Amino acid sequence: LEAQLLETEKHAVIGKMAAGLSHDIKNPLAVISASAFAIKKRGNRIKDSKIVELSEKIEKNSSRAADIIDRLLNYAKPSYYKAEEVELRDVLLSSIDFAIPDSKKKDIKIHKRLKPGVSTYGDKNALQQVFINLIINAIEAMNYKGRLDIKLTKEDNYAVISIKDSGPGIPEELIDEIFDPFFTTKERGTGLGLSVVNRIVKDHNGKIEVKSKEGEGTEFIIKLPLSED
Ligand code: ADP
Ligand code: MG
Repeated sequence: LEAQLLETEKHAVIGKMAAGLSHDIKNPLAVISASAFAIKKRGNRIKDSKIVELSEKIEKNSSRAADIIDRLLNYAKPSYYKAEEVELRDVLLSSIDFAIPDSKKKDIKIHKRLKPGVSTYGDKNALQQVFINLIINAIEAMNYKGRLDIKLTKEDNYAVISIKDSGPGIPEELIDEIFDPFFTTKERGTGLGLSVVNRIVKDHNGKIEVKSKEGEGTEFIIKLPLSED
C-alpha cells in the first residue's frame, strides 16, 4: 500500500516536472528550429547544398525532440483512470481497514456513518488513495487518544464524504498552502499527499473543502457527482 501511494505521488511529481521541463525545453527548441529555417533559406539563396542539408537536419531533429517531449507529457498525464460505478461505502470501508493498525497504536476511535447505495463514476483505486491519504493525515495529526469521524451522505447531486479529526487543526495562514506539492510541516513528510488528493478529486469532477480550527480539529469534505443508475 505504502508503495502504491508512493507510486501515485511519484507520478504526480513526474507530471509536474514534465510540464515544467517541456515548457523550458520547447522554447529553446522553437528558437533552434526557426534559426535553422533561416539558415536553410540563406543556403538556398547562395546555392550551398551542404548548408541546406545540415540546416534541414537541425530542423527535423528539433521537431523530433519536441515530439518526444509531447509524448513524455502525455505519459505523465493520468489518463489511466478506470471509469466504473463505484459504491463509495465499500471504498471507504476498505480505506478505513488500512488505517486500523495505526489508529489502534494511538488509541484513536474511528466512528463511521456510511450511507449505503451512494455511488459515483470513476476509478476505485484512485478514490481509495484519496480516502487513505486523508485518513492517514488525520491519524498523523492526532496525538495519543483522539477521534476520527468518517461520514458518507448524499446531498443534491453529490455524494458527500467527511473525514473529521480531533487533532490540533491547521493554522489559518497555512490553509492555502496545504494542497501545494511539497508543502509539509512533518519532519519526514513528502508534502505530496494532498496535492495528489486534490488532483484525483478534480479529475473526478469533484470538490474539496477544508474546515479547521486550531485546537479543535480538521474536517475535509469531498463532494463527488452521483452516478446515475
Ligand atoms: P505530508 O502528509 O507528507 O506532510 P500532505 O500533502 O498529505 O503531506 O499534507 C500537507 C500538510 O497539511 C501536512 O504536513 C500538515 O501540515 C497539513 N495537514 C494535512 N492534513 C491535516 C490534518 N488532518 N490535520 C492537521 N494538519 C494537516
Ligand atoms: Mg500526507
